[in-house]
Amino acid sequence: MVNPPKTSRTRQAENLLEVLRHSGVLNVERPRQVYCNRDINLGDIGLIGFDMDYTLALYDQDAIEKLSVEKTLERLVEERGYPEAVLDIEIPTDFAIRGLVIDTHRGNIFKLDSHRHVGKVYHGFQEVTGDDLYEYRVNSMRMTTARYALVDTLFALPDASLYAALVDYFETVQPEKKHDWQRLYRDIRYCIDLAHRDDSIKNEIIDDTDQYLERTVDLALTLHKFRSAGKKLFVLTNSYAPFTDHILSYLLDDLLPEYPRWQNYFDIVVTGAQKPDFFTERNPFLQVDTDGTILGKEFSQFDRSKIYQGGNLVDFERISGFRGNRVLFVGDHIYGDIVRSKKSSAWRTVMIVQEMERELSQSAALREENSRLESLELEIQRVNEEIAFDQGLTYKVDALLNGEDEVEVAKGDDEPDEELPDFDPEQLRNARREIQKNHDHLRKRRRDLLDEILSLEKKLEAQFNPYWGLLFKQGNKNSIFGEQVEVYACLYTSRVENFAHYSPLHYFRAPRQPMPHERY
Ligand code: IMP
Ligand code: MG
Repeated sequence: MVNPPKTSRTRQAENLLEVLRHSGVLNVERPRQVYCNRDINLGDIGLIGFDMDYTLALYDQDAIEKLSVEKTLERLVEERGYPEAVLDIEIPTDFAIRGLVIDTHRGNIFKLDSHRHVGKVYHGFQEVTGDDLYEYRVNSMRMTTARYALVDTLFALPDASLYAALVDYFETVQPEKKHDWQRLYRDIRYCIDLAHRDDSIKNEIIDDTDQYLERTVDLALTLHKFRSAGKKLFVLTNSYAPFTDHILSYLLDDLLPEYPRWQNYFDIVVTGAQKPDFFTERNPFLQVDTDGTILGKEFSQFDRSKIYQGGNLVDFERISGFRGNRVLFVGDHIYGDIVRSKKSSAWRTVMIVQEMERELSQSAALREENSRLESLELEIQRVNEEIAFDQGLTYKVDALLNGEDEVEVAKGDDEPDEELPDFDPEQLRNARREIQKNHDHLRKRRRDLLDEILSLEKKLEAQFNPYWGLLFKQGNKNSIFGEQVEVYACLYTSRVENFAHYSPLHYFRAPRQPMPHERY
C-alpha cells in the first residue's frame, strides 16, 4: 500500500513531535524536572559553568554531616576547651535544613517566610510555642544585624544541628547558669571552619570517597550532550586543585571513551575561586598544578589542559570571550553561586537543590492530602468573604435600627446613591437575628476548617522534616529559601544530570504568575 502524500501540516506536526520527543520533556518525572522562574533559551548560551561541591559532586548528606559534626566536636574539645563529654552527644542529621536562621544571642533557631516573618522556632530541640512564641515573634526582627546567621548551604547544616544540640546540653548540665549563646555560636563556626581549612574533612572524603559521593555515568553523558551541541564548559569551584582533581577524577574519569580524564570535558577549570569575592573583587588568576603548586601568572588565554586558581569575573569574561547572558552558571550556594553572580553580572543561573528529589517524591505520595488542603484553603477564603459581607450587612441593619438617616445603597459611579425605604423595626430585628445566626454558623465553619487545615499541615510537614516541614514553604507562604530561589535562580533542579532529559537547545519558559488582583 502506498502512503498518501504528506501535507505541509502533517509535516509540521511531525517535526514538532520529533522536537518534543528529543527534548524528553514529556516524560520527565517531577523530581527530575528542570523548573523555570525566568525564560531561558539554551540555544543562546555559549558557555556553561559548574560549581563542584554539591553541584557536580552530590554528597551523601547524612554521611557528610556526621563527618563534619565529629571533626567539629573534636576541635571544640581541643581548641576551645569544651568538656570531653560533648564528644558523646547524639546529633541528629535530620534536624537542619537550608534557610534556617540562627539567633546567636538567644540560642534559638527559626524559619522565616518570604515576608521575613518568623515561623517555627526551636530553642535547642524544644519547639517554642504559645505565649513564648508570640513574644519572640513580636520582638524578633528583620534579619539586618550580625546577631542572625543564615544557614544557606548544605555545608552549613551542622552549624544548626550542633548549635541546637549544645544549647540543650549546656542547659541540662548547667541549668542555673546564664549561658553565653553568642560565644557558643562563634566557637562552633570557628571549629567547623577549621575542620574545612585544615583538610581533615577533605582527607576523610579522599580516603573513603565511595561512602560520600554518588558516581553515575549520567553526569558524563549530560556534559557530553552539552559539548556535542557546541557548548563550551567550565568549572568554577572554591575547592583547591588537589581536592578538585580527586573528586572530579572519581566522578568522571574513564566513563566515556572520548573523555579518559575529567579535564577533557571542560574548556576552563578554575579552583580556589573564593566565590562570592570572585564576582566582586579583582584577584589575579594563577596557573597551578594538580597538587596545587603555582606554575605561573601571566597568560592571555585559558588553556584546556591547565588548571587555574583564584581570578575574577572581569578577567574571566575578557579572557574567555564570553560575557553576560551568554554564560549559564550552575551552582548550589544561594549566595556564593547564585545571588552574587546574578547581582554582579548578567550571567544566567541554575540552582541545584538536591533536597527536591526527596520532597517531590513524597509530595507525589501525598497527592490526596495536598489537594484536600488546597480545597480547604479555597473554602476558608470563601467563608472569610461571607463573614465580611455579613459584617457589612449587620452594620447597615444596626444603622437602620438606630434610625440613622444616611444609610444609602451604593449604585455605582454614574448613578446617584439610593436612599433605603423605611423598614418595619420588627422586620429589621428579625433580619438582624438571621444574620447573627448565619454569622455564628460561618464562624464555627471557619474554626472547623482551620482545625482541619492545621492538622493536615502538621501531618504533611511531619512527612518532610519533623521539625521544620517543607524546604520551600513556611505555612502557606514561601520560605525565605523558596523566595530566594524564585528571585535569583533562572532555573532550578535537583541535579545536573536532569538536563539530559532536555534538548541542549531547549527553550525553558516560565509559567505566567498572576498577581492576586489578576485571579478570578
Ligand atoms: P564549591 O561549592 O565547589 O565552590 O566548594 C565549596 C568549598 O568550600 C569546599 O571545598 C568546602 O570544603 C568549602 N567550605 C564549605 N564550608 C566551609 C567553611 O565553613 N569554611 C571553609 N571552607 C568551607
Ligand atoms: Mg557548591
